[in-house]
Amino acid sequence: MKIFTKIIDLQTFVSAQKAEGRTVGFVPTMGALHEGHLSLIARSRKECGLTVASIFINPTQFNNSADFEKYPVRTEEDKKLLENAGCDVLFLPEKEEVYPPGYDGPRMDIGFLNEIMEGKFRPGHFEGVIEVVYRLFDIVKPNKAYFGLKDFQQVAVIRQMTAHFGLPVEIVPCTTIRETDGLALSSRNMRLNAGERQEALFIYHSLILARDLASKLSPAEIKAQIETLYARSSLRLEYVEIIDPKSFETLEQNWVEGAVACIVAYVGEVRLIDNMCIYSCD
Ligand code: AMP
Repeated sequence: MKIFTKIIDLQTFVSAQKAEGRTVGFVPTMGALHEGHLSLIARSRKECGLTVASIFINPTQFNNSADFEKYPVRTEEDKKLLENAGCDVLFLPEKEEVYPPGYDGPRMDIGFLNEIMEGKFRPGHFEGVIEVVYRLFDIVKPNKAYFGLKDFQQVAVIRQMTAHFGLPVEIVPCTTIRETDGLALSSRNMRLNAGERQEALFIYHSLILARDLASKLSPAEIKAQIETLYARSSLRLEYVEIIDPKSFETLEQNWVEGAVACIVAYVGEVRLIDNMCIYSCD
């Protein structure tokens, strides 16, 4: 695997590979890699002749400085995991390489997606995501880019961004990878102690419960039940929303195909996000 820290070196290599006819697949990450990230690498390898991963903990998408400071850094382990997964290129830039002095990011009105769920509870987060993904796309110039559906709203924001700027990249959403007991893999899971790791399972169980109840109750009733359950639990629920997967409108009385339950909860100090299709899923 080639490792580049400088844009110029990365671009020289990638453009030569493109000139030889290879399709470029890109997997942006913040490191502390796990099987979820590696599933994106595997998908890219299947579909593209060259797979580029990046590791960059983007400061501009953290609305909480403690979360940024405590974000796990595992660069040496990550390099081995990527190498073993058959990743071709790792882009590992310093902050100044991504955002040189005077760098002016893209401007886009995110609109409704910025008013709900992650947009509402993490002010500035999606602006930061757009800034870094736009910049990384501009550097790597991939044909396809792979994103996990664990960050369901993020996929929609990135799709909106590529459409808004007319970027020539296909966004490929990928299934959420879970531990065998159901907990969604997350770099933040590394911050959980043994007890918290068990408590975190509540999130998965509450999503399964929502799915089981979907044939009997309305979305609003399920949301209310989930909120009651969390109020009695050791987790702090930030939000539960049952949404239309296309419009992201909150569902109240009626179901739509592919309705998704989205949950964010704190286990101790760790903020975990998960979602599941709970109605008429294919
Ligand atoms: P992150 O390093 O957390 O920014 O994540 C990088 C990419 O990996 C994003 O597209 C995430 O949605 C994706 N990802 C994170 N966790 C998982 C998971 N458990 N399954 C699939 N994709 C994931």
